Amino acid sequence: MNIHEYQAKDLLKKYDVAVPAGIPAMSVDEAVKAAEQLAASGTTLFVVKAQIHAGGRGAGHFKDNPEGKGGVRLCKTIDDVRAAAEAMMNKVLVTKQTGPEGKEVQRLYVTDGVDIDQEYYCSVVLDRASAKVTFMVSTEGGMDIEEVAHENPDAITKVAIDPDAGITDADAGKIADGLKFEGATKANAITFFKNLYKVYVDLDATIVEINPLITVGDEVMALDAKMNFDENALFRHPDVAELRDETEEDANEKIAKDNELSYVRLDGNIGCMVNGAGLAMATMDIIKLYGGEPANFLDVGGGATAERVTVAFKIILSDPNVKGILVNIFGGIMKCDVIAQGVIAAAKEVDLSVPLVVRLEGTNVEKGKELMAASGLPIIAADNLDDAAQKVVQATKQAEAA
Ligand code: GDP
Ligand code: MG
Repeated sequence: MNIHEYQAKDLLKKYDVAVPAGIPAMSVDEAVKAAEQLAASGTTLFVVKAQIHAGGRGAGHFKDNPEGKGGVRLCKTIDDVRAAAEAMMNKVLVTKQTGPEGKEVQRLYVTDGVDIDQEYYCSVVLDRASAKVTFMVSTEGGMDIEEVAHENPDAITKVAIDPDAGITDADAGKIADGLKFEGATKANAITFFKNLYKVYVDLDATIVEINPLITVGDEVMALDAKMNFDENALFRHPDVAELRDETEEDANEKIAKDNELSYVRLDGNIGCMVNGAGLAMATMDIIKLYGGEPANFLDVGGGATAERVTVAFKIILSDPNVKGILVNIFGGIMKCDVIAQGVIAAAKEVDLSVPLVVRLEGTNVEKGKELMAASGLPIIAADNLDDAAQKVVQATKQAEAA
C-alpha cells in the first residue's frame, strides 16, 4: 500500500527523521491558510506540492497546460501560493510514473522552502537475493535513479543490514561514506539512517525512498518521501492502514480485493484467470516463454463461486489492452463445472469480443468441458498448459493484427 508524501513525512517526523515543515491542504483556500500559518512561523519561501501516488511531479505537467510548470512549485508570496494551488487542484498531473492518462490532484502539501546545498538519493528496500534490508544511496540525487542505475551503476552504494544485529553505527557510517559525508554532516547522517531503518522495520514498510535527501549546512533532511507498506502486515498498524487513499488505487484492484480475488494489472495483452498463486505465476511464465505478454496476474482462489468468476472475468475484460484471455484452472477444491458456469455466464454478459482459450483439469473436468461445448461460445479448448499457452499467444497475435 502506498501513501502520500505528506503522510510519509508525518511518519518520518515521529521517528525523528528531519523533514521541512509542511501542512496538507484539501482545497485552494486551505493551501492559502497553510501558507499563512507557515509565514507566521518565519517561512519566506513556500513550496506547493501536488499529492498523488506517483513520483516525478516536479518534472511533470498538467494536462490542461502541457507547456506549463509541474506539480512542485516554489512560491515567494501567498498570492503565488494561491495561483499555484489553483493551477494544481483538481487538475490532472502527468508524470513519468503516472503514464499518459495522469492522475487528478485532490490534495496539496504546502511546505517551508528549503535552501538546498546538495541533493542525494536514498532508499531502503528489501533485497530478496540477500534477504536483507538494504540501503541504496547515490550522490546523483533528485534525478531518475533508474537511469543512474543503468548508465552509472558505480554511482550507487548498497549497504545490506544484518537482520539480527539491526543497523550499527558502522553500517550507517558506510552509507554516509557512500555520499562522501564528513564531520558533523556524517554524524547527522548516521542518526538519519538509523532512524530511517527503524521506520522501515517498525512499520513493516517494503520501500522507503527519499529522493532527494538533502544537506543544508551540516543538517541532513528528507525533502521528498515515498513509502510503501506490506499489505499482509497492515493489521499490525491500524494507524498506517488508515492512511489508505482509495481514490489513488486502481479501481479494478479494489473490486478484486472486495471480492477476495488477487489481481495485479500488468502491461501486456493476454488476460489470465487462474486458480492458485503458483499456477498463476507459472501461467504468466509460460505465456512469456511463447512470446506473449500477460495483461494481469489473477488468482481466483480455491473456493471461488460462479459469481466470483464472473467478477474476475469482467475485471480482465475492462482492461482495454486485453486482446485474448487464457483461463487455466486446476480443479482441486474448485470444481471445473463451477468455473465453466462462471466463464459462460460472464462471457455472455459482457459480450465477449476477444479469443478465449480454456484449459480445465481436475474435479468434474468432463462436466465442465461439456458445459463449455454446449454454450455456443467460441471457446478454444486446450489440452494442457503448454498447448493452452501456445494457442492463446497465437490467437492474441491474430486478434491484435486484425
Ligand atoms: P518529485 O518531482 O515528485 O520527486 O518531487 P520532489 O519533492 O522530489 O521535488 C522535486 C524537486 O523540487 C526537488 O528535487 C528539488 O530540486 C525541488 N524542491 C522541492 N522542494 C524544494 C525546496 O524546499 N526548496 C528548493 N530550493 N527546491 C525544492
Ligand atoms: Mg522526489
